[in-house]
Amino acid sequence: MVRDTFARPLGSLRISVTDRCNLRCRYCMPEEHYVWLPKASILTFEEIARLARVFVSLGVTKLRLTGGEPLLRHDLPTLVSLLSALDVGDLAMTTNGLLLEKQAEALHGAGLQRVTVSLDTLRAERMRELARSDRHADVLAGIAAARAAGFAPIKLNTVVIRGVNDDELSDLIEFARVEGAEVRFIEYMDVGGATGWSAEQVVSQREMLERLAERYGPIAPVSSADDPSAPAERFRLPDGTTFGIIASTTAPFCRSCDRSRLTADGTWFLCLYAEQGIDLREPLRSGASDEDLARLITAAWTARTDRGAEERLSVAQRGALYKIDALRADPRREMHTRGG
Ligand code: SAM
Ligand code: SF4
Ligand code: SF4
Repeated sequence: MVRDTFARPLGSLRISVTDRCNLRCRYCMPEEHYVWLPKASILTFEEIARLARVFVSLGVTKLRLTGGEPLLRHDLPTLVSLLSALDVGDLAMTTNGLLLEKQAEALHGAGLQRVTVSLDTLRAERMRELARSDRHADVLAGIAAARAAGFAPIKLNTVVIRGVNDDELSDLIEFARVEGAEVRFIEYMDVGGATGWSAEQVVSQREMLERLAERYGPIAPVSSADDPSAPAERFRLPDGTTFGIIASTTAPFCRSCDRSRLTADGTWFLCLYAEQGIDLREPLRSGASDEDLARLITAAWTARTDRGAEERLSVAQRGALYKIDALRADPRREMHTRGG
């Protein structure tokens, strides 16, 4: 197992398969225009699978497909089959769900083990404002199709923003309970792409727990001993319903972070907040052997010192991480390119 300077293992790889998206969530893609990665730079399925195989040989046990919107990538189940053949412990995907209804069965059949669907609101009119889309019903149909296809339990990701959807915490918990899903509330993060971020809009884990305790009574933490590097802390309501909170903004978990990210053009980032990534596409396309790639990856991970979210905590007058010009200068800084 390869470990970094804080003894954190290289355990998990998030693979962005496209930087394109069919939503425009205001916390991720608030602008009118974007600079896209050049088509010729996008890794083929075979290239992604080859890199994934090298990562797995170095100890990665968790792969997660993401984007942009991963289901916009044509024929995704074929990539899932290639990755499933690597026999990795956990093969998952994060999606906005718009195209899930049609693809859930094929993805499950191809070996995808888990699905997380982003669902910020139960109100169609709110989604129109929050994500500039009137396809709320498609997301709900996608969740139902995922359940019918055999994905269980489904996770739901909700980015909580003050004054936007923070009045829906208990509605989302109730919805998840009925759907046999588990909701994970995510604190609004000042990542690249979130150009409208401000500290006032963040609802902290602590505030969420206080509000939920008022409604439901005492809330107990659930031990995460089986997966100490999981980003979500899990909690249990008095009636046994569980939910998670990802407190990346107010209580980051860099100390146990085993995650890295591969963009659709083969740039490898060791941290969500990292300024620069490592180009794996160039060596891949110019004849590097698996051993060469493994050496490159090992050298970078062993030197890793990143603690991006913890470092942001000490920034006085914290605002958006990047202004739009800086994002346009390098679209790999965007959350929708890095994959979340
Ligand atoms: N498009 C897919 C989706 O939305 O599920 C996958 C990619 S998206 C970048 C992955 C996750 O990042 C989503 O759950 C999204 O809510 C989260 N995300 C994006 N911007 C965020 C922000 N500023 N703060 C917190 N989470 C964010
Ligand atoms: Fe929303 Fe995901 Fe698209 Fe970002 S990548 S705009 S979070 S659907
Ligand atoms: Fe890991 Fe970087 Fe996120 Fe910290 S900020 S949890 S080091 S990816």
